[in-house]
Amino acid sequence: MLKKLFQSFRPPLRGQHRRTTPEVINQSQHSLQRSQFSRHAVSIVERLQSAGYQAYLVGGCVRDLLLGIAPKDFDVATSATPEQVRAEFRNARIIGRRFKLVHIHFGREIIEVATFRAHHSEEDQGDTHRSSHNSSGRILRDNVYGTLEDDAQRRDFTINALYYDPVSERILDYANGVHDIRNRLLRLIGDPTHRYQEDPVRMLRAVRFAAKLDFGIEKHTVQPIRDLAKLLREIPPARLFEEVLKLFLSGHGAIAFEMLVDLQLFEPLFPASAQALDERPSYTHTLISQALSNTDLRVKQGKPVTPAFLFAALLWPALPARSLFLQSQGVPPIPAMNEAAHDLIAEQCQRIAIPKRFTLPIREIWDMQERLPRRSGKRADMLLDNPRFRAGYDFLLLRESAGEETDDLGQWWTDYQDAHDSERRDMIRELGSRDDGASTTRKRKRSGSKRKSGGEGSFD
Ligand code: ATP
Ligand code: MG
Repeated sequence: MLKKLFQSFRPPLRGQHRRTTPEVINQSQHSLQRSQFSRHAVSIVERLQSAGYQAYLVGGCVRDLLLGIAPKDFDVATSATPEQVRAEFRNARIIGRRFKLVHIHFGREIIEVATFRAHHSEEDQGDTHRSSHNSSGRILRDNVYGTLEDDAQRRDFTINALYYDPVSERILDYANGVHDIRNRLLRLIGDPTHRYQEDPVRMLRAVRFAAKLDFGIEKHTVQPIRDLAKLLREIPPARLFEEVLKLFLSGHGAIAFEMLVDLQLFEPLFPASAQALDERPSYTHTLISQALSNTDLRVKQGKPVTPAFLFAALLWPALPARSLFLQSQGVPPIPAMNEAAHDLIAEQCQRIAIPKRFTLPIREIWDMQERLPRRSGKRADMLLDNPRFRAGYDFLLLRESAGEETDDLGQWWTDYQDAHDSERRDMIRELGSRDDGASTTRKRKRSGSKRKSGGEGSFD
């Protein structure tokens, strides 16, 4: 699978993917129909065009519809400035910190309208003295308006630089994007190293689109990534949180994880987990991929997913080593575990800003792992009533599926949930004086007994 993803399907067209005049693809030469686009987005384009501006549907919606995928949202690009756009529509609001954009609201649907922007010129790119670039070439300010041609060149991948005009029903292709769509190939526009230096997040976008679309990454586009992966450390943690959610919660997380590891992008995002992956490769890899595969399945089934469960799984393999270290310093096991959990999350937030509303449930899922073995007296029933029980139980099953020794605790809880009152009383009695605090760190091979897994999204 990975080999296929990184394969180049044709000799590279170096230089040929930048053009100043577009290839114009007429209605008879492509499969798009105006009716496939959001009628609100189409009406915005029509309105801007009749007011004398250039306006097109652009980006993900054109790409996805050419591939037969339902677009997530519809973006419009125009020659009108944000102020000019706002003047045309009553329901328009200017937003944006990094870039000024206009959001036009139609009930729950929001259409994003962006003014054509210029890319910094070739000569500017190496100039580290420009105030808009930092010392590694990253663009810090990118709000320069430009022509349609400029706008096409500053986009990331050729397949994202297609402009559809719903009035003439033609596609304008400045970067051989239609060719790359046909060949299912992800290719950066321009010099890949420069483009990654300008915005290292493009490396994550390459992985995201390759995973989502099942595309290969063209060899010049993939080649610099391993060397430049460390540039992700400079990206604001809040932006990385958003990107990581898109990578892991869009239904293709398991394959995205494989690619991140292979391209050495996982380490700058999750340093402690990457270390666990080095030290206990099989266990860590199984636990994380299993969590992501479960999440992918839930997304495909239209079930809710929560970042908390996923982050709990991504970080869990890094916990034992920290907790054991604290214990070796004389801290008792439970406080050691709590301190390790606190430190690990604080450290992770330096890279990826996980909001408080998720860090709290992560801690609760982990706490639950300490409590699930303690079932005597009324404890089992109290745990069942705990709002975090389901997530804690699902997490226990996940740990077991990665080979953790839990003395068959997952099966016990599965049976307990299915049992009647009198059977439950018997189960508690049978526990008797048995060790009620089963070890959570030893490993074993799983017996493969059937489990009742509800998936992870069941607590919010
Ligand atoms: P989807 O919405 O399905 O995730 P998309 O391609 O629409 O995919 P967005 O993040 O919505 O992705 O961005 C819209 C368009 O803006 C992209 O198609 C691309 O042309 C451009 N773009 C977004 N991020 C970047 C970036 N970091 N560098 C260059 N161009 C970008
Ligand atoms: Mg989009």
